Amino acid sequence: MATFDTRLSAVVGAQTASALADHLQIATVGDLLHHYPFRYAQRGDRADLNALQVGEHATVVAQVRAVNRRPMRNRRGTMLNVVVSDDNGSTLDLTFFNQPWQARYLKVGRWGLFAGKVTEFRGRRQLNGPDFRMLADDADDQENSDLIEEFAGALIPVYRATGKVATWTIARCMRIALDVLEDPADPLPVNVRRSNSLMGYGEALRAIHRPDSNEVLYAARKRLKWQEAYLLQVTLVRRKAVAATVPATPRRGRQDGILAAFDAALPFRLTDGQVTVGAELAADLSAAHPMHRLLQGDVGSGKTMVSLRAMLQVVDSGGQAVLLAPTEVLATQHHHTICEQLGALARAGQLGAADVATTVALVTGSQGAAARREAAARIADGSAGIVVGTHALLYKGVDFADLGLVVVDEQHRFGVEQRDALRAKADKPPHVLVMTATPIPRTVAMTVYGDLETSRLTELPAGRTPIKTHRVPGGDQRWMNRTWQRVREEVESGHQAYVVCPRIGDDDDESTEDGRRPPLAVMDVAPGLTDGPLSGLRVGILHGRLAADEKDRVMSEYAAGKLDVLVATTVIEVGVNVPNATMMVIMDADRFGVSQLHQLRGRVGRGSAPGLCLLVSEAGDGTPAAERLDAVASTTDGFRLAELDLEQRREGDVLGEAQSGARSHVRLLSLLRDADLIAEARVEAETTVSADPDLVKQPVLAEAVAALVDEERAQYLEKS
Ligand code: ADP
Ligand code: MG
Repeated sequence: MATFDTRLSAVVGAQTASALADHLQIATVGDLLHHYPFRYAQRGDRADLNALQVGEHATVVAQVRAVNRRPMRNRRGTMLNVVVSDDNGSTLDLTFFNQPWQARYLKVGRWGLFAGKVTEFRGRRQLNGPDFRMLADDADDQENSDLIEEFAGALIPVYRATGKVATWTIARCMRIALDVLEDPADPLPVNVRRSNSLMGYGEALRAIHRPDSNEVLYAARKRLKWQEAYLLQVTLVRRKAVAATVPATPRRGRQDGILAAFDAALPFRLTDGQVTVGAELAADLSAAHPMHRLLQGDVGSGKTMVSLRAMLQVVDSGGQAVLLAPTEVLATQHHHTICEQLGALARAGQLGAADVATTVALVTGSQGAAARREAAARIADGSAGIVVGTHALLYKGVDFADLGLVVVDEQHRFGVEQRDALRAKADKPPHVLVMTATPIPRTVAMTVYGDLETSRLTELPAGRTPIKTHRVPGGDQRWMNRTWQRVREEVESGHQAYVVCPRIGDDDDESTEDGRRPPLAVMDVAPGLTDGPLSGLRVGILHGRLAADEKDRVMSEYAAGKLDVLVATTVIEVGVNVPNATMMVIMDADRFGVSQLHQLRGRVGRGSAPGLCLLVSEAGDGTPAAERLDAVASTTDGFRLAELDLEQRREGDVLGEAQSGARSHVRLLSLLRDADLIAEARVEAETTVSADPDLVKQPVLAEAVAALVDEERAQYLEKS
C-alpha cells in the first residue's frame, strides 16, 4: 500500500518515475494524484481540430477517416498518410515516414488519441510522426496490443503532458497509484462534507482521474475545489483570529479635538459611504487590538479624506499617524494636500494656531540633510502628529514618539514585508489601514486579502462629471490630427492634458519578444509633439528615470499650471491630483492592462470640468485588444473592469500577488467562476475556527493547514 508520501519510483517503473520527476516535477504519489487532467476527451468529441495552434504540443481524440500508403518519389521508402477528424468535421493529417506497420492499428472508423507537435504543410495542419494510442473497441481487440488503451469510462482524462511523457503514460501511472493508494485521511470535517454534500477525499481523487460519468466528475471537482477553498479560508480566518488577540493601544479620539475642528471647517458634506467607512475606522481605532483593514474605492472616491480623518482621531488620542505613498512625487503631493486641507490646524507652534493644531512632517529620500534632521526631530518628540513619506521611511532611522496608525496608499505597490517592517517600529503594533484604488473583485478580496477587514467606497462625491473615453485608431492620420487638435482646444480653454506612453525611451531595451514594434516612448513622442502638432504649447516630460528633484519640479510646475501638456509614463498612474487636467491621450493603449487604463484615466476629470480620455491603438476593430479597449471605453465601473482584468490573467498570477502558499495549493479553484463556492467556504471556515480555534478536534485539517502555512513561509524566505 502507498500513501501520498510514497516515492513514485516504488510504484511505477524507474524510467517512468524519473521522466515524471524531470519533466513534470512529480516525485511522489501525492504529487501525481494532484496532477489533475486539464480536460476530458470522448469519442465523438467536438474537439474542433481547426483550433489547434501551429507549434503547440497537442493531444487530440479523433477518428481515422482515410489511410493512404505510397512510395516516396525522391527517396526510398514509404509514406503513410492518415486523415483523422473530429465530430465537427474538421480534419487533421498524420504523416509517418517509413513506418508502414503503423497501418495495422490505424483502421478507418477507429478512434484514437494522437499526440504530437502541430505543424503546417501546404496550408493544412498536421502531426508529423505522432505518438498515438487507439481506443479499445469491444470485440476485435483480443490481440491486446500495447498500442490499445483501455480507459475506464467514456471520459478520457487528458493530462498536461510533454513530448517526453505522454498523457496515456500519466493515465497508466494514475491507475497504478490509485490501485495501491491507502484511503487518505480527509481534511474536510464530516459536518462540512455532509452539509455541502461532498464526497470523500479518496473517492474524489479516484473519480477525477477515472470518471464514470460527467455527474461523478462534476461532484469530484466540486469536492476538491471545496477543499482548496476551505483550507485557504481556514488559514486566513485563523490568521485574522490570531491578529485579533494581539494587544494595541486604543485611539478613541476626543469630542473637541482636531478632528472636530477639521469637520466643522469642511467645505463639503461627506458622502454616505465616507460616513459609514469613517465610523468603521473610528470603531476599529478604539479597539484594544490592531486594526487591519483594506479600503477600496475608485480614484476620487474620497479615500484620502477618510484616512485623514482617521489620522486626526489618532492625533486626538496623543498618537502619531504615518501615511506611506509609493513614490516621492505622491508623498510630496499628499503632504501638500494635507497641509492645505488642515490649514491652520497644521501649524501648531505658530502664531494664531488653534491649540488642537499639530504639524505634518515630510520625509523623502531626496530631501536635504537639514530638512531631514528637522523632520526627524519633530517625529521623535511627537510634535509632528502626521508624517508623510515613501516606503524609504521604513529603512531610514526614523523614530516615532508614539506611532498609532499606519496608512498605506496604493497597496499594489506595497509589499506585505514592508507592512511588517513598519509594524515593528512601534512598541505595540499600530493600527494599519491599506488603501487601494484598484478595485478588487470580491473573491480576490476574500482570498488574497482574506486576513484583512474590507471597506468599500462605491460612490463618487457629488458634482463630478463622469469621464468620457473613446478608442482612436492610431494608424489613421486624420484621427491623430483630430486628437492633437482636441488637446490644443483643451489648452486654449484653460485646461491641461496628459499624454501617456508605455515606455521611457532612449536607452531602454527596445527588443520585444513577440515581434511587434517596440511600444511608443516618452523620449520620442514628446519632441515629435513639440516640433509638430503641439508646437507652441508648454510641454513637460515625466518618467521614472528622472532625478527625484527633477520629478518634483516638473510635477509642481504642472500642478501650478506652468505646463500645458505632460508627456509621461505610468509614473502618474497613482494618486497624482491636478484638477485642472481634463484630458488624457494614452498612446499604444493596448499595451496596458484594463485596470491600469482605468487607473490612469482617473487622473483627469478630478475637478468639475468634464474629463476626456482617448485610447490610441493600432489594434484592428474586432481584435481582442480592441475589444478590451472598447470595454474600458464603455464603462467607468471599476469593479466590472477589475473582473474583466481577472478573466484575462492566470489565476496563479493573481494569487501569486498574495504572499501565500495558495499559488501551488490552488489547482482547480477559479477566483472568477467559483465566487459563490469561495463565499460558502469562508462561512464554513469561520464557523469551524470560532468553535475550535486551534483545530484540536480536527487533526487532519490542522495538519493540512500547517502544510499550507509552511509552504507560505518557504516562499516568503525565498522572496526575501
Ligand atoms: P481618493 O484618495 O479616493 O482618490 P480623495 O480623498 O483624494 O480621493 O478625494 C478626491 C478629491 O475629492 C479631493 O480633492 C477631495 O478634497 C475631494 N473630496 C473628498 N470627499 C469629498 C466630498 N464628500 N465632497 C466633495 N469633494 C470631496
Ligand atoms: Mg488618493
